[in-house]
Amino acid sequence: MAGTGEKRAGGRIGGPAAAVRGASGAGSGGRIGGHGDSRGLGLSRFADLAGVRLYRRNAFAVTGLPANAQGRAVRQQRQRLEARLAVGESWAGDAVSPSTDGYRRDEVRSAFEELQDPRRRLVDELLWRWDEVDLGCDCPRSLHADHDAAVRSHLLALEAETEHGHVPVGNRNAMWGSAARTWGRLLGQPAFRTHIAHRIRALDDPRLAAHTADEFLAALPRLLVSPFTELAADPAFRARLAKVCAGWVEQQAFSGLFFELFEEMVEERTERIEKGVRSAVGLQNTQKYPDAARILLREVVPAFEELGDFRAFLSNWQHEEAAHVVAVSLNNLAVALQRHHLYRRPSESQRRTILELVDKAYEITPDRDAKAIETNWAAIQDQFTHLGPSGSGPHRGDRGGTGSTWVALVMASPIVLAFFLGLAAGGVLPVLAVALVCGAAFWLWCLRGRAGARRKRRR
Ligand SMILES: [Zn+2]
Repeated sequence: MAGTGEKRAGGRIGGPAAAVRGASGAGSGGRIGGHGDSRGLGLSRFADLAGVRLYRRNAFAVTGLPANAQGRAVRQQRQRLEARLAVGESWAGDAVSPSTDGYRRDEVRSAFEELQDPRRRLVDELLWRWDEVDLGCDCPRSLHADHDAAVRSHLLALEAETEHGHVPVGNRNAMWGSAARTWGRLLGQPAFRTHIAHRIRALDDPRLAAHTADEFLAALPRLLVSPFTELAADPAFRARLAKVCAGWVEQQAFSGLFFELFEEMVEERTERIEKGVRSAVGLQNTQKYPDAARILLREVVPAFEELGDFRAFLSNWQHEEAAHVVAVSLNNLAVALQRHHLYRRPSESQRRTILELVDKAYEITPDRDAKAIETNWAAIQDQFTHLGPSGSGPHRGDRGGTGSTWVALVMASPIVLAFFLGLAAGGVLPVLAVALVCGAAFWLWCLRGRAGARRKRRR
């Protein structure tokens, strides 16, 4: 009987349903783009603009008005566009608007509504180009240029990622890097705060006067990173997530936002892992092994791999705990199947499933369980790897396996043949040489399978 075992209390590698909870505890609030920092309804525009359409929905992008437009200029543009949209389907918006199919009548109407409330209008103003228009401020000339560069690079990065997926990935990454640097630098400049304070005074409205420049400054970083939650739902983007976000995390303004940003997505995956493991354990206990294996390999392992995409935003213990739970469940099912097949020969697909389970367990296991799982892995490999679909005789489950015995016999036959040939030729040396070559070949063959699988284990 093989020396493998499912680890039990005292020896068992953790309970299969050990909780894999998020590091950040209660999942209340905290959602990026939420009202967290923006004091109730007053600055609710921050929440409304959150997401990948951050710039596309900008009131200045939609209406085509310059950043300093007020009063009469706004009314005239509204009349002009309403007349135009009374006959046409849509209009293209601002010259640099990222919209590809233009804005419809209802979108234009609601953009003009946004401009009515200066608390909302100022948010849109801060997120659209200022160009050379006179905003009545005393900012250093470079500040407005820096601001427009930040808006442009971020907008390009977002559009490259969404509408214009044909932009090469390398260029997209460079755009993200540039967006993070330009916005990060701008948010750190005292002159930017002064500009916002000036605009609050210039727009001269009691609703806006109730707010400070610091409130706007505090809410901007969350809004700027808000598209990542949506983008990370795409597996292709998720694979690049850590790389793209690295440039943002480096900037002080954004550094603390990312754990919170992905908290919900991490929790969703850890819950999928927990639920899958619970269900697989139940199935394993009632000997419904194929269903248990299917849940572990097709649901739990993919959820764990998706969690890996958020690795940069998980604490070490959080990732290790998830790895522990998944690896132990896979290991325990493989061991249960090994016992089940002690006197029942597995079909080819059952054999492959057992090997896949134990391979995945070994690949995923954290260091603390590695030794115990490696022992099981090695024994199950020995027992099932060489047991081909057409292997003969009942499977006895002895270490080394029936398959290995037959291979040994087949490989030993040239030695026997060489012995008689050598004797016939009258020499001992040829006999020894052939025996040595065959023996070495056999050992190499045995070692190869194990080494190959060990290489797969990620450290
Ligand atoms: Zn200014």
